[in-house]
Amino acid sequence: MNNYNNYYNPQPQIKTAEMVLAEIDQAIKDTIQYTSVSKITVTLDRLRQAGDIVDVGTGTNRRIIQLSDRYDLSQLKSRYAPTLANKPVVFKIPFKVQEGRVDNLREAFITQSAYRLHISNPDFKYLLQTLPESYMLKEPLDTCILMAEFVTPGELSQQVQNMIQRASERKYYDEYGNAKRASYLTEYLTSNSLAIQQLEKLVFTLDKYFVMADINPLYSPCNYGFKKLPSGEEILTILDLGYVLPKESVSPVCPKCGGALKYVTPTEDIVTKTGPRGQALTRKLGLNGLYSCKNDNCTEGSTAVFTSYPDETVFFEHVQRLRDLWSQNMQTYSLLQYL
Ligand SMILES: [Zn+2]
Repeated sequence: MNNYNNYYNPQPQIKTAEMVLAEIDQAIKDTIQYTSVSKITVTLDRLRQAGDIVDVGTGTNRRIIQLSDRYDLSQLKSRYAPTLANKPVVFKIPFKVQEGRVDNLREAFITQSAYRLHISNPDFKYLLQTLPESYMLKEPLDTCILMAEFVTPGELSQQVQNMIQRASERKYYDEYGNAKRASYLTEYLTSNSLAIQQLEKLVFTLDKYFVMADINPLYSPCNYGFKKLPSGEEILTILDLGYVLPKESVSPVCPKCGGALKYVTPTEDIVTKTGPRGQALTRKLGLNGLYSCKNDNCTEGSTAVFTSYPDETVFFEHVQRLRDLWSQNMQTYSLLQYL
């Protein structure tokens, strides 16, 4: 028995992944309590300088980080996300706490919603394979941090790098001589046949089960990225599912004809093969994401255009419909936190 030795010569405490995340979580909790805006950023910057974390990207409400290679994530993954055991992950840290937390909850909810599809449904396998899986680090860590499968941002991808290197003329460059990667990415997403095929399959499959915004490749190309499949193949996916919610029993419908509103992609036939009506949609797709009624007989004002709506309008109307639906039903009351 040698308790004295342990007491007087404590082993230096080895920092774990859980300890780094707890430190970030404390900064988030202090921010909620004291409304100290910079606490989270200061903490993340300090951890980056200490080599504990690596920055991957920043969104409107969240900073995306990875933990340094020296941390073993196996315990964390086995507790929260066993399916991600052999896959690289990122952590999404809400620095705008309220908004970023909702984004995180929605992303985790999309993974749960995909798992709720029936296993015999071919879309079940496709969506789980294609979308980045995401899990909240709750109980016992009790944080509002999200752990998500790593996705290479489209503008940093090899695909875009290849386009820039191959281009004989400097097609999209700013006045400082830097390639505008987002513009190259848009071109890739709307002209490469494999990209078009993968993007349309992704958007149209999501459109069956979810209401979404911010995934128009002309307006938000940087929301696309590439996920590596176990085979090594890369598949096009969406980086940020913060503006996606399940349809549940309520779907957006056209206020004029009652038909379904469908998400529009810039390369589909309704846009490219319907003459002036398609050209009107193309113009609108330069301004925002779009839902449209695809009923030939339903028109807006003049007969020259399809009835269409900005995706954000449709998304936030859907949020309100879900809020009404879920607040009436105690069983689904806990789902309200996802809105
Ligand atoms: Zn209609």
